[in-house]
Amino acid sequence: MVQDMVGQKRPMVQTEQLIKRFGQNMVLNGVDFRVERGQTVVVIGPSGSGKTTLLRCLNHLEKIDGGRIYIDGELIGYREHNGRLIEDSDANIARQRAQIGFVFQRFNLFAHMTALENIIEAPIHVLRQPKDEVVARARKLLAKVGLSEKEHAYPHKLSGGQQQRVAIARALAMQPKLMLFDEATSALDPELVGEVLKVMRDLAEEGMTMVVVTHEMGFARDVADHVVFMEKAQIAEQGPPEQIFGDCLNDRTREFLGKVL
Ligand code: ADP
Repeated sequence: MVQDMVGQKRPMVQTEQLIKRFGQNMVLNGVDFRVERGQTVVVIGPSGSGKTTLLRCLNHLEKIDGGRIYIDGELIGYREHNGRLIEDSDANIARQRAQIGFVFQRFNLFAHMTALENIIEAPIHVLRQPKDEVVARARKLLAKVGLSEKEHAYPHKLSGGQQQRVAIARALAMQPKLMLFDEATSALDPELVGEVLKVMRDLAEEGMTMVVVTHEMGFARDVADHVVFMEKAQIAEQGPPEQIFGDCLNDRTREFLGKVL
């Protein structure tokens, strides 16, 4: 019981003084980032401010140069040894990644597999779940993203918006505890953006924990529980959308929003 209460209170994501450099370029300069369980946090900010890198660090697609990342209380990508961090085993990193869904700007579907085959691939081969169970779940997910009739379609027969919805279903098929979206609608024709945002909004409303990097300020305003504004490798300002889109106090946030709204 006590354990459960502690588990409920623990943030889903917590970074402590996260540092990431590419060569001389300081890309994340001591970032403390937190996402509560069930929350949708939207990360906004100018190009090059470190938003994508922050997401990629969260599931260890990038190695970090300092600080700590915890997902659901578990140190990600590393283990501590005499106060120092040593990169974790490939098997452990793969296990951690399997709990975190990642949706990329480019949909990255397997071109030689149908929509359904794309969705069932990882649960069968990574999680080794029984095929009939996985297929049944995949069909439910296809229905959820509005693509039941596209079960047998190959990616090249699908629009960009449909492909991205399959990519979201594929990530959800792993039953992740956290979903990360990296500019998931930026590569889409404008008329296809809405159908993907709707799927993301539904997920948020169902209580999925989500971190969303996006330029869609309407989505941030309507769906986010918390908005993080990044600038120059740091979190420059954060708060509820009413604060960030209302009378944000930080001049730089105001200037950025003045350009994009
Ligand atoms: P954002 O998502 O806010 O546009 P990014 O996280 O993509 O910002 O990039 C932050 C900085 O890191 C930029 O200066 C970018 O050029 C640099 N960067 C990102 N990825 C790499 C990489 N793989 N190698 C070298 N530099 C990179």
